Amino acid sequence: MKVIDIIRNAKETLFSFEILPPLKGDNIYDVYTNIDPLMEFKPPFINVTYHREETVLRPLPNGLYEQKVVRKRPGTVGLCAAIMHRYKVEAVPHLLCGGFSKEETENVLIELDFLGIQNVLALRGDSQKGQRYFIPEPDGHHYAYQLVEQIQNLNRGIYLDEEIENNTPTNFCIGVAGYPEKHFEAPNLSIDIQNLKRKVDAGADYVVTQLFFDNRVYFDFVDKCRQAGITVPIIPGIKPLATKKQLSLIPHMFHVDIPDDLSIEILKAKDNTAVRQIGIEWAIQQSLELKKAGVPVIHYYSMGKSDNIYKVAAAVF
Ligand code: FAD
Repeated sequence: MKVIDIIRNAKETLFSFEILPPLKGDNIYDVYTNIDPLMEFKPPFINVTYHREETVLRPLPNGLYEQKVVRKRPGTVGLCAAIMHRYKVEAVPHLLCGGFSKEETENVLIELDFLGIQNVLALRGDSQKGQRYFIPEPDGHHYAYQLVEQIQNLNRGIYLDEEIENNTPTNFCIGVAGYPEKHFEAPNLSIDIQNLKRKVDAGADYVVTQLFFDNRVYFDFVDKCRQAGITVPIIPGIKPLATKKQLSLIPHMFHVDIPDDLSIEILKAKDNTAVRQIGIEWAIQQSLELKKAGVPVIHYYSMGKSDNIYKVAAAVF
């Protein structure tokens, strides 16, 4: 079922979460161990992130270094198929512009279609390590809205090769990313919202937000999106803070603010066990308020660990 139809049919706020494919060499059963307890809260869909290749330097015996391109977390599509098979819920693979030519994208979409995967989250991806700006593949997309256009074309039976004989249309539901605190490259929030609208006008069915710790930021963002003519559901993304180190890591990685009250409490905490508890309680309060406001879904960023998400969900759903 399409995520947008799940949302339309829902009578109350739904629970969903995002997981990472395991590191290369790790066991898929570790992923299941994290998912299993969360199934109690009946997520109708589970997102699976995509991790593009990285260039790493490996030392050689002669003291020199070799440059190698590695993919540390392959397996997004396979993991989606495994989740659908094992849990009988929808899986939403994240699909990137970065690292893909248009043809490679089309081939992945065909594969997803064959597997019965009807949902995708269409993203640009970040620049590769060592690159200052995002560089698309020579025949790839610069922006996520172009990826949305390609997927919608396939939904209309328009393939890249105009000469193919049978143009079976696909039937993908498309989610895109939104940034309540602005995407870090955008000159300001209103231009970023115009760019979000471009994705929706291209055919995105719903938006999932970047994580945020202050609900006012989300509510203001939704108001501004509505004023800009974006009418699709906007799903809030929540992450419970778990370590002291995240106080600086999260703003650095995700370009979001951590409110004063939360950061003061975390700085006062005696260890990371206490921080984890503070993060859980904060996320519960955020979630209860979002639920009361009638958001369609609350989407949790698990970052591969589910015990704190479990405690939040148990208090909210
Ligand atoms: P876009 O919508 O293309 O926007 C990128 C920037 O370009 C923005 O500043 C925007 O304002 C600007 N822009 C857009 N269109 C135009 C235009 N026509 N002209 C000029 N400027 C324009 N990354 C991963 O690598 N893997 C994942 O699995 C992953 N999952 C994510 C899930 C969610 C919910 C979110 C919020 C982010 C996720 N990301 C993931 C991170 C994401 O790839 C980065 O934030 C990336 O930098 C931007 O992606 P986007 O799809 O929002 O890009």
